[in-house]
Amino acid sequence: MALKDINLSEIKDAARDVAGRVGEAAHDTVEKLKRRDILTAPFMIEMIRTATNMYDHGWDERNGGNISLMVDEEEAAKYLDLNAVLREIPTGFDAPTLDGKYFLVTGTGKYFKNVQYAPEVNLGLIRIKDSGRTAELLWGYADGGKFTSELPAHLMSHAARLEVNPENRVVMHCHPGSLLAMTYVHDLDEKAFTRTLWQMCTECIVVFPEGVNVLPWMLCGTNEIGVATAEKMKTARLVVWSQHGIYGAGKDLDETFGLIETAEKAAEIYMKIAHLPLRNTITDEAMWLLCDRFELTPREGYLSPREA
Ligand SMILES: [Zn+2]
Repeated sequence: MALKDINLSEIKDAARDVAGRVGEAAHDTVEKLKRRDILTAPFMIEMIRTATNMYDHGWDERNGGNISLMVDEEEAAKYLDLNAVLREIPTGFDAPTLDGKYFLVTGTGKYFKNVQYAPEVNLGLIRIKDSGRTAELLWGYADGGKFTSELPAHLMSHAARLEVNPENRVVMHCHPGSLLAMTYVHDLDEKAFTRTLWQMCTECIVVFPEGVNVLPWMLCGTNEIGVATAEKMKTARLVVWSQHGIYGAGKDLDETFGLIETAEKAAEIYMKIAHLPLRNTITDEAMWLLCDRFELTPREGYLSPREA
């Protein structure tokens, strides 16, 4: 080849192309190296500990119960390539305000007792798009599984709670025995149910001054129970599913677990004393004193008005 046939600009283009590709590959490698193991993420460790603790409390027999934890994008990006979508899974419902949000969610048919031994099989991290109709799987459900069948109730509850409190991050469902038992023998009126729980432990009105809301028995796993739960979540962080279990919401896993734990303790006391003659109780006046002491407002109309 004669020197005059060499097209310098072509050589320059090719060199630039190679340099570009080498740069991209190097960038990808650096990004990959910077990314940490997701099993070391604080949100993952807390999720695994919470699921294990709930199982140990006897609230999540077999595949009972489910948890969804909203994860901030920056946090997820420390551990995952957010452009690497493993699968797209239809959700079957709308939740337009949650597009672009990330959730770590327990899997359908999975046992809480196994979460700690195989988190990548029993949990999944999803990103919501298409007005809530599609979940992009970014990590987990490694055996080809998918999120809990109660995702409608979870995501609709997240949307409802975020409107009330932008700090909300968790929705949790489980089957605590005493609360469940109470729905067989106690009036399901929300005010009556709440007042009984408040009367069972001094700390109850302090922990959930807004009370608990109650749904009658409904078919679970449906959009209908999701809509009904989300509606109830607008006024309280605890929603009892009669003859089934409870939903809790909160700003983190600890707060939500603690809410359910406190309500369950109260229900346990109730089930211990309900058949015995009642000699003492926590009076409304005492509860007003608690409200003063902790500077909180009880659910309107749930305590009898204070004497002037
Ligand atoms: Zn359940």
